[in-house]
Amino acid sequence: MDKLQGIDSHIVIIGCGMSGIGAALKLTKEGFKNIKIIEATGRSGGRIKTTTFGNVIVEIGANWIHGPSKANPVFQLACEHGLLDSQAMSEENQALDVEGHPSFQSFYSSSGNKLTPELTKSVSQLFLTLLGKSKEFILTEKEPYPSVGEFLKKEIAKHAVEWKDDAETKKLKLALLTMMLKLECCFSGTHSMDLVGLGAFGGYKTLPGLDCTFPGGYEGLIDAMMKGLPESIVSYNNPVKCVHWNWSFRGANSPEQTFPVMVECENGETVPANHVIVTVPLGYLKEHYETLINPSLPLSKVHSIQRMGFGTNNKIFLEFEEPFWEPDCEVINLIWEDETPLADVKPDVNQFWMKKIFGFTVLHPPERYGHVLCGWIAGHESEYMETLSDTEVKNSMTEVIRKFTGNPSITPKRILQSKWHSDPYTKGSYSYVAVGCSGSDIENIVQPLPLQETDTKPLQVLFAGEATHQSFYSTTHGALLSGWREADRLITHYTQSPLISQNFSSKL
Ligand SMILES: Cc1cc2nc3c(=O)[nH]c(=O)nc-3n(C[C@H](O)[C@H](O)[C@H](O)COP(=O)(O)OP(=O)(O)OC[C@H]3O[C@@H](n4cnc5c(N)ncnc54)[C@H](O)[C@@H]3O)c2cc1C
Repeated sequence: MDKLQGIDSHIVIIGCGMSGIGAALKLTKEGFKNIKIIEATGRSGGRIKTTTFGNVIVEIGANWIHGPSKANPVFQLACEHGLLDSQAMSEENQALDVEGHPSFQSFYSSSGNKLTPELTKSVSQLFLTLLGKSKEFILTEKEPYPSVGEFLKKEIAKHAVEWKDDAETKKLKLALLTMMLKLECCFSGTHSMDLVGLGAFGGYKTLPGLDCTFPGGYEGLIDAMMKGLPESIVSYNNPVKCVHWNWSFRGANSPEQTFPVMVECENGETVPANHVIVTVPLGYLKEHYETLINPSLPLSKVHSIQRMGFGTNNKIFLEFEEPFWEPDCEVINLIWEDETPLADVKPDVNQFWMKKIFGFTVLHPPERYGHVLCGWIAGHESEYMETLSDTEVKNSMTEVIRKFTGNPSITPKRILQSKWHSDPYTKGSYSYVAVGCSGSDIENIVQPLPLQETDTKPLQVLFAGEATHQSFYSTTHGALLSGWREADRLITHYTQSPLISQNFSSKL
């Protein structure tokens, strides 16, 4: 740190999620002294949110460490803080590579039957092969279709004409593939795979390691990280209204000092700063970029913010007195027999929203969770579900489960649904690379202000958050790495340009 000239600079981080905390920790460790995190809500963690459900804890937001292995910094931190069980930390677990896709498991159909493994295995294999192919266009100059959905559906149609099965089996195969597309929508946090850009799809990278969870809750990691920061660093319940930059603001306590940026909060508070790291979710940025940043963002950034995808994936927790699933079952997939990916039907979202649920994951082990399922639903149907009461959702879930199991008396005891789209400071779940987007859109969003290629002034506004990571967007490790990246940008800024930084606080 001796070389650093910037330890006295005032840095404001907007948002106390994984990326904001990650940036604050790195800067604190490097000796920066004047860091403040401003958070709209009353808690740290953002989309990492653990809560109680009856007697157990569940994750409203992030669930797994995706790819828990050495290259994953969230895994590394979780290990350092002793937050994982021995199986998750084992070398075998870290070496397993399922390329982001755990195996498909039990398949229940809408006529109350379970599908045979022979049928489901071959269809799962086909889907995973096609999905693998759809990731290869990142390496080519051309994409045959604009979206992953169109590519997959065209490929499915080609295969379907070759099938020698009877009509009933063909129908079931197509229904299975429809379910797999719904699952993919949950992974991508999108309404439809028709919205996900084919050429850029392969830009998302998976890490080895079989996804693992936090026995004591994901938020335990946030708590552990927060302990590394000074206690009073966060200003909670303090939504930021506007970041004014490229100006010269006087400090409240030291009027002789001037700052290029000033953060204006909804409550009227103003916080002058040398640098601001904005980590608000892309969903929030899409709605508020016009008023959040003044002077307005350059068009290159605006267009990329508009183009990038940000959608909803919600969870529905259901608790049962007794399990109706097999003891080793991890996922219950729901196959609506009347559905096919080859028909271009516009779904009636309000009436049939529940058909968008791809299935339920079983919370394991039962000694810890009791008998709890977690349903997954993406897209407009998911957003519609947020407008319904718990009783309405519970009634629909009871109907669905009775239909698929053929058991007319199964009733969930308790229900809890996430509502990420109506969360005013998130406005959805996570980002994806939409049709028409490429990695350069992410690059544009990342570019700090003033744009360094057109302006020689020092860094003022920097951008982090999961949506700003080129290959790990939509994940907690992507969020953490993005926070570290922006912290590093500031550290480098001061280590590599001491002249700029020395003159910085006195001149601006
Ligand atoms: C349902 C769901 C399931 C998920 N599952 C997984 C998973 O299994 N594994 C995984 O790796 N990832 C998962 N994710 C994604 C993961 O949670 C996120 O990528 C990550 O937590 C994002 O961190 P972040 O810091 O970028 O954003 P956030 O955590 O959203 O933090 C941004 C913060 O900014 C605050 N903010 C917004 N506006 C303002 C304002 N105006 N003023 C001040 N503060 C503001 C917000 O309140 C928030 O606290 C999931 C997400 C969801 C929603």
